[in-house]
Amino acid sequence: MCDYLLAKGMTLVGVDNLLTGSRQNIAHLASNPAFEFVEQDVTEPVDVGPIDYVLHMASPASPKDYLEYPIETLEVGSTGTRQMLEVAQRYGAKFLLTSTSECYGDPLVHPQTESYWGNVNPVGPRSCYDESKRFAEAMTMAYHRSRGVKTSIARIFNTYGPRMKLNDGRVVPAFVDQALRGEPITIFGDGSQTRSFCYVSDLIDGLVRLLVSGEAYPTNIGNPSEMTISQFADAIVALTGSKGGVVYHALPEDDPKQRKPDISKARRLLGWEPKVGLDEGLRVTVEYFRGLPPTGAPVRTATT
Ligand code: UDP
Repeated sequence: MCDYLLAKGMTLVGVDNLLTGSRQNIAHLASNPAFEFVEQDVTEPVDVGPIDYVLHMASPASPKDYLEYPIETLEVGSTGTRQMLEVAQRYGAKFLLTSTSECYGDPLVHPQTESYWGNVNPVGPRSCYDESKRFAEAMTMAYHRSRGVKTSIARIFNTYGPRMKLNDGRVVPAFVDQALRGEPITIFGDGSQTRSFCYVSDLIDGLVRLLVSGEAYPTNIGNPSEMTISQFADAIVALTGSKGGVVYHALPEDDPKQRKPDISKARRLLGWEPKVGLDEGLRVTVEYFRGLPPTGAPVRTATT
């Protein structure tokens, strides 16, 4: 997102406490005068001076990460969202919340339209993420309705691409890492659960279109091309030539059985739809991961 906006001539301030992120991902921007980085938790008051847009994207996003940091995840969705909305209100800036398809929980409506209210377990292990984002949406709508803040809400579906963490636990880096090391691919459950994977450049295009739109209600941004996790494992094997096979592990509690965005609204309102197919997106992603040090090795950062 930073690369995209800087290329458009914008000036940015990035705020991140790097709880799950990596400074390495912005190392190439360190000498760019149009980019400033503040290492800070957005649950603390932030003042970055007058700005035109607030993109509130802060949160752990991998199930492995938010299960490790459940309270931080709830805090960033609640207090963090409020702090960012305060910044937007103070400067009359447009606010974008990156919410999630997890708002639909284990959905009983398929594909998921924005009008579906979801099937979320409010006390299960994933609730720290799901309810945090649902609260964030409610807080955003409250600032919009009662304080007139210009806001938009994107519900992001599984996104992938370069600069993900190799060991963040999500299915794309996990399968690519295992395949590249010739280890068995770990399918959770029987692999019949579905996901729909969106390449990062498509996501960014959709988010920016939504940011400059006048739409306040949630809008799905994702790729409707749906597949089972077994099919996804096959795609990774075909791309990497892995001979490691697959191994089956228990399905995590409350793991959604199916997920596919209905993107009619984004098509109609934003003129947006994904352009990058899975083959092309995965090829670039695998190339990126091939260049990384193996799991467990320290990742070099700008400061070390
Ligand atoms: N998954 C898997 N093996 C892994 C990691 C994930 O089979 O090593 C499955 C997981 O159970 C889920 C899907 O892949 O059904 C997507 O998981 P991910 O953690 O990427 O994101 P989610 O969509 O669950 O938020």
